[in-house]
Amino acid sequence: MTLNLDFFKKALEDEKKKLESELGDIAVRNPEQLSDWNVTYPDMNIMSAAKEEVADQEEEFENRSSLELGLESRLRDIAEALARMEKGKYGVCAVGGEEIGEARLKANPASVTCVKHGN
Ligand SMILES: [Zn+2]
Repeated sequence: MTLNLDFFKKALEDEKKKLESELGDIAVRNPEQLSDWNVTYPDMNIMSAAKEEVADQEEEFENRSSLELGLESRLRDIAEALARMEKGKYGVCAVGGEEIGEARLKANPASVTCVKHGN
C-alpha cells in the first residue's frame, strides 16, 4: 500500500492550525513547554463582581478547561502522527507494526494504531 503522504500531511497540518487557533481563544501556551496550554480566566473584575457573576465565571472557566483538555489532547495526537511521518513510520501501527489502512487514516489522519489495536 502506498499512502499519499502529502495528502495526510496537509490534513494534519490544517487541523493543527485550526486547533491552535481555537486554543488561542481560551488558553495561552506555556512558554516553557510548548505542547502545554493554560486556560485563561474569562475577562472580569473578580474583586467587584457579584456572587452570581462569580459563579457564572467559574462555570465558564470549567467549560473552557474541559474544552481545552479535549483540544490539547487532539493536538498531541496530531503532533505524534506528524512525528511518525518524519520518521517514515506514518500509517504503520505503533503497537503491532502492521499497516493501519487508508480508510482508517482518512477517517482519522492522526491514527497511530490499526483497528485491532485501537487508539
Ligand atoms: Zn496494530
